[in-house]
Amino acid sequence: MDRRFDIVVIGAGPAGCLAALTAARAGCRTLLVEKHKTIGEPLCCAEGISFCGLNDNIPLDHSWIDADVERCYLRSPAGHELQFDHPDAGFVLSRRRFEQGMADLAVQAGCELATGTETVGLLNGSGERFHGVRLLDGQTTYDVGCQIIIAADGIESMVARWAGIDTTLPVEHLDSAAQFLFDGVPDLDPTRMEFYFDTQLAPGGYAWVFPKGNGIANVGIAVAPVVAQGRKAMPMLREFMRFRFGQRSPKPLKRTVGGIPEFCGRKFMLSRNVMVTGDAARLLDSITGAGIANALSSGRIAAETAVLYLQGGRGDLRVLKSYPERWMALRGREMLYFLWARQIFLRLTNADFDAMVAAMAQVYNGQTLTAIDPIDVIKRALRTRPSLLRLARHLVW
Ligand SMILES: Cc1cc2nc3c(=O)[nH]c(=O)nc-3n(C[C@H](O)[C@H](O)[C@H](O)COP(=O)(O)OP(=O)(O)OC[C@H]3O[C@@H](n4cnc5c(N)ncnc54)[C@H](O)[C@@H]3O)c2cc1C
Repeated sequence: MDRRFDIVVIGAGPAGCLAALTAARAGCRTLLVEKHKTIGEPLCCAEGISFCGLNDNIPLDHSWIDADVERCYLRSPAGHELQFDHPDAGFVLSRRRFEQGMADLAVQAGCELATGTETVGLLNGSGERFHGVRLLDGQTTYDVGCQIIIAADGIESMVARWAGIDTTLPVEHLDSAAQFLFDGVPDLDPTRMEFYFDTQLAPGGYAWVFPKGNGIANVGIAVAPVVAQGRKAMPMLREFMRFRFGQRSPKPLKRTVGGIPEFCGRKFMLSRNVMVTGDAARLLDSITGAGIANALSSGRIAAETAVLYLQGGRGDLRVLKSYPERWMALRGREMLYFLWARQIFLRLTNADFDAMVAAMAQVYNGQTLTAIDPIDVIKRALRTRPSLLRLARHLVW
């Protein structure tokens, strides 16, 4: 064994960086491993996060922010528009600066950081627990020992699989997404997030324009293959771009495609002494596909629990069970609610979207909101369009 740590965190995305920071600040010998040389790159994310999603997990550092979001715009297929002000709604991050910033803080707190280093396996120990990880740095393979492994290796997580968790999802539980980073976006309000709903344009999902300052924006689309009838996200995004920009096509700086897994409850979060966080554990909001805030909260809670295990738990693996329990107590109810609501969302017609946006516009257009309660929004939608109740039979768990 080359080195020993208390905790090895695999993956320097939001989940891994905050887990490493939390563990290092608590005095644990921590190693953060990232397979890419540069943290936060390559990236497939629109980078939007709510104020609470960020601030409840880590104190805000304004250097991580590309845009303050102060208003939202929604458009229905027939062109009904809803726009409301929402001061302090949230941010569009620079994920690269955000994750690098958290990693720097972790290093200042004593964490060791190994970029350009891939985890290629777990070291089997007693059978009850893994006793380390195998790393590959260039051509060199070496082993490090640890007591706890935090898997924060994203949607394609191998660590969870090596730990014995089958995280494969059938296609109906995955969305696919495509995104361009554009410069020179026409009619871009630097403080406004735009959302477009249309079952032709983005079946089972939506299209977005998220500003990043100086005329730059993330422009993307997420679709549910289960209702997309074989159509792919990238051609649909090009169609959306023609719709949004017409002839005034902005300059593409980057192009990415990625998958968005559906929330699956707590079942992927723990195996022996491997704690699985963020996308690796499929902790995403099943309606919007947002996962950064959940990655942060799961990384933070996993590390806090690992610290308890190391400092007071005397190596009792039962202590680790409080990780999924605490996370579900914090986020589980809302995530399950969105999972149920997704069954309705996938079945909405363009007429439904038109009726809902038009009705919401009557109540909210031009208003200043301080908070949006998603349950209240659904109740209003049902009141506006009682025929939506026809979809209630799909709310079978
Ligand atoms: C198109 C698109 C747009 C999105 N937009 C938003 C949005 O606006 N807001 C939002 O909240 N969510 C959004 N999401 C979801 C969000 O990107 C994820 O939920 C979030 O990145 C999850 O963070 P994470 O730390 O779990 O994983 P990741 O951010 O995926 O980080 C995983 C890290 O692990 C590293 N890694 C992987 N394997 C290994 C290995 N074997 N060894 C070492 N390192 C490894 C990777 O290189 C990576 O750096 C979007 C997703 C997509 C696809």
